[in-house]
Parts: sequence; C-alpha cells; structure tokens
Amino acid sequence: MRILIDVDGVLGDWQRSYLTLYRELGGRKPRSWAWKRFRSHEDLPDFKQLDPHIWRSRSLFEDLEVYPGVRPALYRLNQKHSVYFATALPPEHHKVRDKWFEENFPFIYRQRQVIYSNAKWILKADVHIEDQPQRLAPWLAKNPEGRGYLVNHLWNRSKHYEDMLNSAGEGRWERVNSFTEAAEAL
Ligand SMILES: [Mg+2]
Repeated sequence: MRILIDVDGVLGDWQRSYLTLYRELGGRKPRSWAWKRFRSHEDLPDFKQLDPHIWRSRSLFEDLEVYPGVRPALYRLNQKHSVYFATALPPEHHKVRDKWFEENFPFIYRQRQVIYSNAKWILKADVHIEDQPQRLAPWLAKNPEGRGYLVNHLWNRSKHYEDMLNSAGEGRWERVNSFTEAAEAL
C-alpha cells in the first residue's frame, strides 16, 4: 500500500513550536477565559504583528517536537508499506526539514520519500494522513480510490470542515486522535 503522510501537525507538534516562538517574541497570552476557547494560533492577540516574523524563523521547524509514539509507529509502517511524506514548507525551510528528518527518522530515504509541494492532490496514494481539511479534501477529490485520515486538532473540528471533506469523499475519510492511531489501523 502507498501511504502519503503530512508532517506538521501529524508527525510533529507544530502548534507548540509556534506558541514557543510567539512567547519568545513577546507575544501576549490570551486572557484566561480566551485560553479555554483557544483553537488556533490565529486567535492569539498578537497574531497579526508576529506571524510574519515567526514564519521567517528557522526554529519554527528546527525545534519541531515529534509527538509521542510516532517514531516506532513510523518505523513499522515504513517496513510494511511504501511511505512518502508530502510537506508544503516554503523553499527557504527545506534544508532545515531535511536535517529534522535525518535526526528524527534516520531510516527514511529522504531523496526518495520526502516530497516538497503544497499540490498534494497530484500525488497518487492509497492513503493520506493529514491534519488540514483544506489539503485533505482536494486530495480525496482527485484520488477517488483513496482513503483519508484526518488527525484531530481543536481547530479542525467544525461543521464547515466536515462538509468540505464529505463533499470531496464521503465515507472515505475518518478522524483519528493521532498519527499513531492511523498507523495502527494500516
Ligand atoms: Mg499539517
């Protein structure tokens, strides 16, 4: 089976990296009541001013923490299936991401398995594991035989996203709590 895996928010805790940088750059915390409703980095009080600086920082991707359980799960999956990674990072961060793969997943053949593109829908696969409904939906539409796993985050649980995914491929996608949960099903 050919499996296409997204990186940020699926293998690594992108939101944590983002918040760390946001605080380092002097970003204000949301009020305590707002924390309870905090869904996405776009809700942060200084999002607009700091977002461009955060994106330019190497450490946003350099210090990306691998979620618990991902390494052994990915190792197993990689032995059993044809695994590819599709990551939509802008070109200035590709070297950092290569190094991140080398350090965290040395068993990956980067030149073959890591694909840098945000046009993920052109990549044919049996399964796609993704955290962004806006990316999974076009992939489902262009891969009518494919199945999708959407990794749960607070920000991607909404009726709008459910509808978007259902209209692209109803019955061909499901939510999972983590990459590890998807890997166990494959
Ligand atoms: Mg992602």
